[in-house]
Amino acid sequence: MIIVMRRNATESEIEHMIAEVEGAGLKPATLRGTERTVIAAIGDERKAGDLRKLESSPGVDNVMPVLAPYKLASIESQPTRSVIQAGSFAVGGPVVGMIAGPCSVENEEQIVATAKAVKQAGATALRGGAFKPRTSPYSFQGLKEDGLQMLATARDETGLAVVTEVVSPEDVELVSEYAEVLQIGARNMQNYRLLEACGKSHRAVLLKRGPSATIDELLLAAEYILDGGNPSVMLCERGIRTYEGHTRFTLPLASVPYLQSKTHLPVVIDPSHGTGHASLVPAMARAAIAAGADGVIVEVHPEPEHAMSDGYQTLDFPAFAEMMGECQRVAEAVGRKL
Ligand code: PEP
Ligand code: MN
Repeated sequence: MIIVMRRNATESEIEHMIAEVEGAGLKPATLRGTERTVIAAIGDERKAGDLRKLESSPGVDNVMPVLAPYKLASIESQPTRSVIQAGSFAVGGPVVGMIAGPCSVENEEQIVATAKAVKQAGATALRGGAFKPRTSPYSFQGLKEDGLQMLATARDETGLAVVTEVVSPEDVELVSEYAEVLQIGARNMQNYRLLEACGKSHRAVLLKRGPSATIDELLLAAEYILDGGNPSVMLCERGIRTYEGHTRFTLPLASVPYLQSKTHLPVVIDPSHGTGHASLVPAMARAAIAAGADGVIVEVHPEPEHAMSDGYQTLDFPAFAEMMGECQRVAEAVGRKL
């Protein structure tokens, strides 16, 4: 923490700030310049509470935190990249994890056929929502536990790990019985009771970035899960809300190298929600892998035109197989595999 005093700060105001820093359990180092005095507070400022409140003290111009507000998620706490293994699915190592499946589980035939097709094309995990958080209360809300059972059947038939969303803290235990990876959806990224409940689960978590959340807010949401005792968190960039209306969201692929410079947690890209157009998905999946993404999550359905949710951004089986071939070549070019 760096405290910059005003040009006209008095000696007693400087002394007051030095005492405040000491009172917060930090060691003050005072630099008296010709123009201004700067006080560096040495120690772990995160344990001292939010010291930005000192900006309201007399004679203080600016208080600047030095350490990232998240600790366990920070690359400083763990310089080696985390590799998360959840059944057949690994993410964070040399192999790019490919998660594919429908937006929603609709019936057993649909999810089993999709699991077989995406496995055949090289996917390592199956996605499918059983609990669906929908913008409209009139939209399909998911098959709930029946859907989870269908996902388990698809896993039994293919060996693919299951990634599925959990929308409320009460359901974490139930969803953990069926799925290898708990997905926290974009709308729930700041549902702190849900994050805490997932922190207590033994299942890996795919945490999606809220469409209006900053990167610090995403990392602090991950911090809740890590702090709860669950080290298996992967972050998912799925697009943010901007003024642009041509794509459903704006997919910032710079998040991949940026996040990887700040955190050891694996980064997964969702080009389906990130674009909202099936025709744009393969190019953004290729770009994600070229940018260094640790995983990609893509919506795939036997008949996208009849899908009960998100059909417009969903690939059919041939399009997914073609995309996987292209992604394989990009992965090889950047020293990874699918
Ligand atoms: C989904 O994966 O189908 C979904 C609802 O995603 P998001 O939370 O990113 O909107
Ligand atoms: Mn969807």
